[in-house]
Amino acid sequence: MTTTWQLATGNAHKAEEILAIVADFGVELRTPKAAGLALEVDEWATTFAANAVVKAVAYARATGLPALADDSGIAIDALDGAPGVYSARFAGPGASDADNNARMVRELLLRGKRTSTARYHCVIAVALPTGLAPRADERDLIAGAAPDGLGLDLGDLILHTFSGTMEGAVCDRAEGQGGFGYDPYFRLEDGRPLATLSAADKNALSHRGAALAKLRRWLEQSGPRG
Ligand code: IMP
Repeated sequence: MTTTWQLATGNAHKAEEILAIVADFGVELRTPKAAGLALEVDEWATTFAANAVVKAVAYARATGLPALADDSGIAIDALDGAPGVYSARFAGPGASDADNNARMVRELLLRGKRTSTARYHCVIAVALPTGLAPRADERDLIAGAAPDGLGLDLGDLILHTFSGTMEGAVCDRAEGQGGFGYDPYFRLEDGRPLATLSAADKNALSHRGAALAKLRRWLEQSGPRG
């Protein structure tokens, strides 16, 4: 029997990558669009893990289904780890990928750099409904969520988190048509421009692919399947 989970992201690019990677996990992921859902989730936390949990909790509570969320971003060494959890809004609220990339290049050049080592981070959070009542004191628990943690107990939901990273560098020159976000400016450690890879090749190497591979191992070993 295939279990239905709710995908907790409105980002179509992320959704496409996640759906391709989990295609053989034995879990059917329902997109927010398919569910007629358009949640505005306040990503109030300051870590990838906690923000992933915030999103998984919101979608699980809205649907009553297990929910899978992704929080991700890029940490650039020359920018002291920025934009990190603020990657989607680096150039301000509602910023486009082009706006964020323009700010990224500007910040590099302001520091006299055309390139910097960088890495993508991703935390996948899975929220599983228990049928019990929620706890009253969940905010501190969520804020302290670990990037790889099994069994965070919010009363009505149990949360599991799985992290992945992809090392490389950013530069001031775009190349390639694939991927999304910062990909045109990202180079793998072997020098290949990330946006020149096929979707399957990116997913095999990416922060998102690595985090979901951990989820897959957990599902095979001890996760709920029925
Ligand atoms: P979130 O929706 O708050 O998790 O923000 C994710 C943001 O991080 C995206 O909007 C992109 O700017 C960036 N990001 C995350 N993963 C990737 C990726 O695989 N490629 C390019 N940019 C990414």
